[in-house]
Amino acid sequence: MRQILWFRRDLRISDSALLHYAREDVLPLFIFDKNILDLLPRNDKRVSFIYQSVLSLKKQLQGLGLDLALFYGDPVEVLGSFVGEFDEVLCSCDFDAYAIKRDKEVEEFFPIRRFYDSFLIHPQEALKSDGTAYKVFTAFYKNLKPLWQSDSIEEYKISDTIKLSPYDYSFVPTLEDIGFEQQKLSDFLSESVDSLIAEFLPKLEKYQESRDYFALDGTSKLSTHLRFGLISPKQIFNQVKSYKNSEFFIRELFWREFYNSILYHFPYSQFENFNKKNILWNQNQEAFRAWCEGNTGVPIIDAGMQHLNATGEMHNRLRMVVASFLTKNLFLPWQWGAQYFALKLLDYETSSNVGSWQWGASTGADSVPYFRIFNPYTQSAKFDKEGIFIKSVLTELADVEPKLLHKENAEAIVNIKHSRAEAISKFKRV
Ligand SMILES: Cc1cc2nc3c(=O)[nH]c(=O)nc-3n(C[C@H](O)[C@H](O)[C@H](O)COP(=O)(O)OP(=O)(O)OC[C@H]3O[C@@H](n4cnc5c(N)ncnc54)[C@H](O)[C@@H]3O)c2cc1C
Repeated sequence: MRQILWFRRDLRISDSALLHYAREDVLPLFIFDKNILDLLPRNDKRVSFIYQSVLSLKKQLQGLGLDLALFYGDPVEVLGSFVGEFDEVLCSCDFDAYAIKRDKEVEEFFPIRRFYDSFLIHPQEALKSDGTAYKVFTAFYKNLKPLWQSDSIEEYKISDTIKLSPYDYSFVPTLEDIGFEQQKLSDFLSESVDSLIAEFLPKLEKYQESRDYFALDGTSKLSTHLRFGLISPKQIFNQVKSYKNSEFFIRELFWREFYNSILYHFPYSQFENFNKKNILWNQNQEAFRAWCEGNTGVPIIDAGMQHLNATGEMHNRLRMVVASFLTKNLFLPWQWGAQYFALKLLDYETSSNVGSWQWGASTGADSVPYFRIFNPYTQSAKFDKEGIFIKSVLTELADVEPKLLHKENAEAIVNIKHSRAEAISKFKRV
């Protein structure tokens, strides 16, 4: 059996379904996909992260006596050039609209064997007793109790029959060759997953209390590594499970599963309100630009957005606060915010992003009720009382007394109390 191992969002060698199901005579490859890359700006930070991760994967595979062939082009053409030389393509499942179309085209000339190793469960395996999908997280989670109560979940082992197919593996394009400039990434993004986990484990016990304080470093920061498969969710589960107070953290991993299940079963929700309510959002482009640029006059919003623009990162609590501000105070469509996050977030994942935006906009599955609206000033007073995060980004506010950062002022583009009341009355009408 001659197999192509097509690495995509699974850039690792441990708990790898591809390396487990590889038999003999394999061509491991990664394609820098022109169709995706050509749409991105030259300074896209994710491409720098993917590039460094692909080179690291190549090294790890070489350590196993294997290698990774690199390509820059259209995957259908690249794979098409191997017809007759290989019997099948092995790859990890990908459910976004482009990936589904691309894989269908490849399947016209190559059988594809897909593996579900980027998530803990396949959405088809987490259904209600009547065979329909869960729409509420708590019920979804409860149903999966046997899984999250287990001590560990079996990981894939590397097959011992793999033999590398002869090929010229020497081509390594530079970032410039594929149209991008090297971007500066935060140091933790160059750390190995093992060291990230080792740093996080001592914080795990206090995770539930500290995770919302965005000036503290209380979360795992694993989302980008998880997104591109440098670690699998199974591996994270297995590493944290035996630790004290790991339940709350594990529950967060299952939010990722829940949103994946929602997108899988309700693909329309990528673009439309999950609850199908017809909300007449404002269309104010100027207010949207101010939000994107972090220029709203509300310190916590501006610090969150400017930090996102500079680093590609944003703490979960800040994501919730800026999402609430956009959809409730500016009353702009959640789709605008979700699309902006899609351009900027290093850990961008369609399912988690869309699911979380709809949750915040009160249009989603298990969504926050429309009358629960975050007050950005109360949020910053609670979670960044001394203004440590805000001042680290908005350096021009360094000398401002912290409590003034949490007080509404005339410079803000919107009045929180009035806009809140207006949003509630608009929601009430639908
Ligand atoms: C508006 C909005 C958009 C978001 N977009 C994304 C996105 O595109 N990609 C993404 O990975 N996460 C997204 N999230 C969820 C969450 O903010 C990030 O997963 C988290 O901030 C990543 O940091 P961490 O790895 O330190 O998280 P930790 O707190 O350490 O959590 C561990 C892991 O659990 C998962 N997780 C945690 N919280 C959530 C959540 N609320 N929903 C789904 N999974 C969760 C992530 O995989 C995360 O890496 C979004 C949240 C909001 C409110």
